[in-house]
Amino acid sequence: MQNLGFIGLGIMGTPMALNLVKAGFNVTVYNRTRSKADALGRAGARVAASPAEAARDAEVIGTIVSDTAAMEEIVCGKGGVLETIGSGAVLIDSSTISPAVSRKLACHLAGKGASMLDAPVTGSKHGAEKGELTFMIGGERETLERAMPVLKVLGKKHIYCGQHGLGLAAKLAMNAILATMVEIFSEGFVMAAKAGVPPQTLLEIMQSSLARSGIVDFKAPFVFKGDFTPYFPLKLMHKDLELVMEAAYAQNLTMPATAVVKEVYGAAKAQGKGDLDYAAVITFLESLAGVQVRVPAAR
Ligand code: NAP
Repeated sequence: MQNLGFIGLGIMGTPMALNLVKAGFNVTVYNRTRSKADALGRAGARVAASPAEAARDAEVIGTIVSDTAAMEEIVCGKGGVLETIGSGAVLIDSSTISPAVSRKLACHLAGKGASMLDAPVTGSKHGAEKGELTFMIGGERETLERAMPVLKVLGKKHIYCGQHGLGLAAKLAMNAILATMVEIFSEGFVMAAKAGVPPQTLLEIMQSSLARSGIVDFKAPFVFKGDFTPYFPLKLMHKDLELVMEAAYAQNLTMPATAVVKEVYGAAKAQGKGDLDYAAVITFLESLAGVQVRVPAAR
């Protein structure tokens, strides 16, 4: 397999496409904002003027765009993938979008003789750069086998979840957990700071207890420095929580903690923090408490 299309060159897509170029595939990239595609062009990719052009002659097409509407546009819109995708081609979508819409897109593609995997990822920007993402995959096993040479370049772990849509169902469940952990970490650290407990003292206590958490270990140093450079933008975590609640409604599920946590992320976004990392949810709680969870830099 040689010819690949890759659509969506944001925080995640740019390093993913770059790894495919470095692995020796012929990659044709498309991005709505052309300058990001041109940067990949300088690294050896061919630059397409539309998703349709990126999909033409591609055996496998990777996509990773912001949200459900963007993915629908890329597949079904004017100049979309559906116009050119070949029979037998595989579309691997790593965007976090609505599982129901993803299943609908898979049906449209099946009408052209093409197959689709929902293959959302975890591992963030670092994982994308190192080719160490974890994929949660829904779709036919046979399609997955055909896509494996590409997936192996992008990730270190590929977990098959079942029929189409179940990769996304797993991803949404995971982000409900992650968002809630970061929010409750924020509440606890703001509470301790307000009382006068230094943040690094509470972290040391947490790290010596069963409350220890990988996400807190990773995010705390950034929070203590007030560095909210986006690895995963807060507006996208809020979007994922919306998707969780939609899926919960569709399945007649009650998810009370997630519902409240979604509102906290929504409030932070309303304060203009949507483009910061999702750990910036703490700054909304800090603004209410009149305290900041920061550690002065050592001299
Ligand atoms: P990002 O940096 O904001 O990039 C979003 C990409 O989507 C850009 O290429 C953007 O094009 C494109 N896009 C948005 N709307 C579009 C539209 N209407 N038509 C065509 N293209 C459109 O986001 P990201 O962090 O890479 O995340 C991408 C996806 O991966 C999201 O679904 C996110 O939830 C998921 N994800 C992210 C992470 C992470 O840590 N960042 C981890 C796991 C999963 P422009 O350049 O023109 O804006």
